[in-house]
Amino acid sequence: MDFHLSEEHKMIQDAARDFAREVVAPRAAELDQTATFPEENFRQAAEQGFAGILVPEEYDGAGMDNLALALIMVEINKACASTGVTLSVHNSLATAPVILHGTEDQKREWLPKLASGEVLGAYSLSEAPSGSDAAALRCTATKDGDDWVINGTKLWVTSGSHAGLFVVFARTDPDASNTRGITCFLVPRNLDGFTIGKKEDKLGIRASSTTELIFENCRVPSANVLGEVNRGFPIALSTLDGGRIGIAAQALGIAEACLEASIKYSKEREQFGKPIAHFQPIQWKIAEMAAKIEAARLLIWQAAWLKDRGEPHASQASIAKLEASRTANFCAREAVQVHGGAGYMVDFPVERYMRDARITEIYEGTTEIQKLVIARGLLR
Ligand SMILES: Cc1cc2nc3c(=O)[nH]c(=O)nc-3n(C[C@H](O)[C@H](O)[C@H](O)COP(=O)(O)OP(=O)(O)OC[C@H]3O[C@@H](n4cnc5c(N)ncnc54)[C@H](O)[C@@H]3O)c2cc1C
Repeated sequence: MDFHLSEEHKMIQDAARDFAREVVAPRAAELDQTATFPEENFRQAAEQGFAGILVPEEYDGAGMDNLALALIMVEINKACASTGVTLSVHNSLATAPVILHGTEDQKREWLPKLASGEVLGAYSLSEAPSGSDAAALRCTATKDGDDWVINGTKLWVTSGSHAGLFVVFARTDPDASNTRGITCFLVPRNLDGFTIGKKEDKLGIRASSTTELIFENCRVPSANVLGEVNRGFPIALSTLDGGRIGIAAQALGIAEACLEASIKYSKEREQFGKPIAHFQPIQWKIAEMAAKIEAARLLIWQAAWLKDRGEPHASQASIAKLEASRTANFCAREAVQVHGGAGYMVDFPVERYMRDARITEIYEGTTEIQKLVIARGLLR
């Protein structure tokens, strides 16, 4: 067993760290406070190859693996979780299913554009009546000649305001059981009958956009079906298995940022004539944060490693997300506490970390749903 990263992975991690520090971090607070979509960060990330991390080189991508993706996500989320989720959804939820399930024509059409950042990707499964119970979705697609006609409203689509390609799930067989009658479609932004609805105002990841999608007799050519008709739900779930490693990496990035900020502040802030880092309760907080962070890191690396080897990884991805998201929230709470009143003010980044950490326990499957996935694997 070797816990060292390869030279290549170390180089990727260093490149992501430099990019995050130099480009992403300086803009993070302002983007958050003004709820401005991190368009320029995405464009510059794409120049680094971070928009096509998993895309094979033959489709103009970086051809990297899932461990590389996780390492990059940690560094970027450490600087700005809004930029992080934009890139995570783009790579893991929008691009990855095209790589895995796309026809040759679909890959040639979309992967180079996704990898270059010309097109931003989004993933649209959730609806008002179907969140955790995703298979209960009601949006329909009806066959008409050579097209499918989509009707319905999708909810809470990350990057909806700016995406050029949407991976959309709709019900194509109303008579089939919930999970069997769903099909996955590649929906470009400019189709008639497809509009972007309400943009949400949020507690955290405020610079990331979260929108409704509204379909009113929107015609999508049959050639845009991803995978097989009525077999879209397994694509939705297996895509989320990969996405959960990305969100776990997001959580780890936030947790690391909390630890770094706490170490820095505790050495600078003096009370009772000493830096507060001299007080054992502060040291315990820092030690506990570090221990949980290292545990989360190992779980994320393990899940990514299993995925890269083509081995079953659904349960490990859920375990990694469960623990990393708890760690992010634990560390954010403790970081605010280490900062005292300053931690409650927007002048310090830890209040943003606390707001951003919260979402990691909710999207791409809540904490409760991760536990269901893990238990199902064990009790099968
Ligand atoms: C900022 C943001 C971005 C998002 N981005 C996307 C996106 O890009 N694409 C997309 O498709 N979706 C997206 N979502 C939707 C997200 O995945 C869902 O919010 C999430 O899956 C939970 O669904 P829900 O909100 O409907 O909660 P609900 O399913 O209504 O759950 C409410 C509560 O009940 C619990 N619960 C539900 N069922 C069970 C059960 N069987 N056992 C135990 N507890 C249960 C949940 O854990 C939760 O605590 C996003 C959401 C947010 C907030």
